[in-house]
Amino acid sequence: MPKDDCNTSGDRLYQMLATLKSHDFRITPQRLAVLKILAASEDHPSVEQIYEKVRVEFPTTSLATIYKIVALLKELNELLELGFPDESNRYDGKKPFPHPHVICTKCKKIMDPELTSFDELKEEIARKTGFRIIHHRLDFFGLCRECQKVE
Ligand code: ZN
Ligand code: MN
Repeated sequence: MPKDDCNTSGDRLYQMLATLKSHDFRITPQRLAVLKILAASEDHPSVEQIYEKVRVEFPTTSLATIYKIVALLKELNELLELGFPDESNRYDGKKPFPHPHVICTKCKKIMDPELTSFDELKEEIARKTGFRIIHHRLDFFGLCRECQKVE
């Protein structure tokens, strides 16, 4: 089984709930809805995209509420934030640790490539520079399968 499959969205939801409870945060139905979306994080959603999804079930939810819970989860290391200078930040709650991404410049889709060579690359970088690597950010940009078809 690939390593990434260990983090099912159910496990991640459970972990996020446990972290919030251990910090005495109340789990409101709205918060739970946000957590469920982030635990799945299928498309690395932006705050605005989370907001649109949550509003289907909870029309009175404010964008500020979503921003707050996202900031909180980030603070608690339960969320990986991908910042972009000209676009909305995107979030991965399924894998809240650094990992490489592949990003479609046309439709803005973000995926997690399954890499076997990445640990080797990290070791080589550490060996050649003498750095102790703590964090990394590795993005590949291009056109996804769907966007290549309509080009
Ligand atoms: Zn695309
Ligand atoms: Mn990811």
